[in-house]
Amino acid sequence: MKQLILITIFMLTLSAINALAQEPPGNKLMKPEDTEYYKPVPKVVTPGKSQADPPSDAIVLFGGKNLDQWVNAKTGAPAGWTVSNGIMTIKPGSGDIRTKQSFGDFQLHIEWRAPYPPKGEGQGRGNSGVYLQSLYELQVLDSYNSKTYVNGQAGSIYKEYPPLVNACRPPGQWQSYDVIFTAPRFNDDGTVKNPARVTAFQNGVLIQNNVKLKGRTLYIGHPYYEKHGPMPLLLQDHHNPVSYRNIWIRPLSD
Ligand code: MG
Repeated sequence: MKQLILITIFMLTLSAINALAQEPPGNKLMKPEDTEYYKPVPKVVTPGKSQADPPSDAIVLFGGKNLDQWVNAKTGAPAGWTVSNGIMTIKPGSGDIRTKQSFGDFQLHIEWRAPYPPKGEGQGRGNSGVYLQSLYELQVLDSYNSKTYVNGQAGSIYKEYPPLVNACRPPGQWQSYDVIFTAPRFNDDGTVKNPARVTAFQNGVLIQNNVKLKGRTLYIGHPYYEKHGPMPLLLQDHHNPVSYRNIWIRPLSD
C-alpha cells in the first residue's frame, strides 16, 4: 500500500514536471491578443423557440405534413408509413424508409415515441433505428425498464457502443436524439483514412461521446467499412409501430 502511494506521488510529480516542460518558451513574452483571431466569423443562425423547433438553416426532413422527403429504402417507391396528427408511424412490414437527399457530416434532430402500452420484450419492444448514412445504426428501442444486450439498447450504436447512460422516457412519451455525425473518410484504395464519429444526446443527455465507429452495423459478425460517399438517412421498420416527428438536419460538409 505504502509502495503504491509512493509510486502514485512519483507519477504525479513526473506529470507535473512534464506539463511545465511542455510550455512553449515564448509564452511568457506573449500578449492576450496574440492568441485571439477574428476571421472567419461564425454564421448567425436564429435558434428555434424551443429546442425542438428547427433553426433557420436546417433542412426539415419531416415537419408533420407528409413524407415528401422520403422513399422506400429498397424500392425507391413512395414511403409507406402513415402520417397523421403531425406524426409519422411505421406501418409494420412496409419497409425501411430513407431520405431522397444524401448527407456527409451533419447535425441531426429527431424525435421518436415507442408504442404504449408496450408489447414484447428486449429487441422486440419498440424497435426501430436511425441509420446514419444508411449504414450506422443509432438504436431506437423501448429500453425503459426493459433489458437487452447493452450494446443493443436504446441509444447504442448497435453492436458497437452501449449508451453512456440510459436516458429513456417511458413508452408513449416523446424522446429526442440530437446527433453530431462525422462521416468516415477513405483513401483512394478504399482503406479507411478516418473512421466515422458520433456524438449523441438523448433527451438532452449525452449518450455517445465522439465514439469512433468500427464499421457498418451488422446483426451478425464484426463491423467493417466499405468506401462510400454521402448517403441518405434511413429509418428502420423493425415491425413495431414506433412513431417519429420533428426531424431536421444541418449538413456540415458538402
Ligand atoms: Mg433497431
